[in-house]
Amino acid sequence: TQIDQYAVFGSPIKHSKSPTIHRIFAEQTGQELIYTAQEVTADRFESAVTEFFRLGGQGLNCTVPLKELAWRFADRKTERAESAKAVNTLTLQADGSILGDNTDGIGLVTDLIVNHEVTLNGKKLLILGAGGASRGILSPLFEQQPAWVLVANRTASKAVNLADEFADRGDINGCGFDELAGLSFDVILNATSASLSNDLPPLPEGLLAPNGVCYDLAYGNEPTAFVRWSISHGAASSLDGLGMLVEQAAEAFLIWRGIRPDTAPVIKLLNAER
Ligand code: NDP
Repeated sequence: TQIDQYAVFGSPIKHSKSPTIHRIFAEQTGQELIYTAQEVTADRFESAVTEFFRLGGQGLNCTVPLKELAWRFADRKTERAESAKAVNTLTLQADGSILGDNTDGIGLVTDLIVNHEVTLNGKKLLILGAGGASRGILSPLFEQQPAWVLVANRTASKAVNLADEFADRGDINGCGFDELAGLSFDVILNATSASLSNDLPPLPEGLLAPNGVCYDLAYGNEPTAFVRWSISHGAASSLDGLGMLVEQAAEAFLIWRGIRPDTAPVIKLLNAER
């Protein structure tokens, strides 16, 4: 019989760590599978996904810029994928249909809470950015019952709209960066893509409360601009999104293989490589 096939689609995909992560998960849990990375642009998405599953693919991760297309492609979606309006995990079901899920949010929350022992309950949270990643993390974040969530975005209207959408989950507001002056937060999450161009949103002094924690969803071999900002502003922890990447992969692996791998050695290995 054919070995079960999995893949990540995205563009650019060359530097993806997902094949390494899933290879280690498979070794660790004694599972036989193949996981490849394939360069797929938005215009080729539908034909590439259809072909992948037609040729016997079992599960697919989708990354930038395909998560919204994957959300549209899925026959059914989990509740967390529905509220995220983005899908990073597609799974072939026994009846031949494709289930869409989003494991990014739970990946972030697991990394924060389990790996870094950060408490969100009763805390004031600031999320920078109002794109796909922000949308994906809001639902799992609210499960931790923060006291207040503020979403700040370069385009203020997008933050306000996002906050409106999640208003039934808890105390949430949206604003532009210029409205941050005078506020302070226990946890600041950077979900802008500014880090990818070594850029930083304009952040006023005093934004991070004493003993506050900063987390950049982006990651790289060097500390991101936001991680450097965090360190220079005396954060108790200055974290980046490598742990989130591994944890979202572990959740996808769990969906596909029914077993949750041990993420700690994988995070350690990837940290050692940079
Ligand atoms: P989107 O393109 O959907 O959204 C980008 C957001 O960043 C928008 O809010 C945009 O503001 C803002 N932005 C872009 N450039 C700047 C800038 N120079 N200054 C201020 N704000 C800026 O991206 P995603 O939400 O999909 O991804 C966001 C980040 O999260 C990326 O860095 C990505 O790598 C990371 N990520 C990490 C994951 C992980 O596993 N670690 C998983 C998913 C995402 P505006 O609306 O005004 O354009």
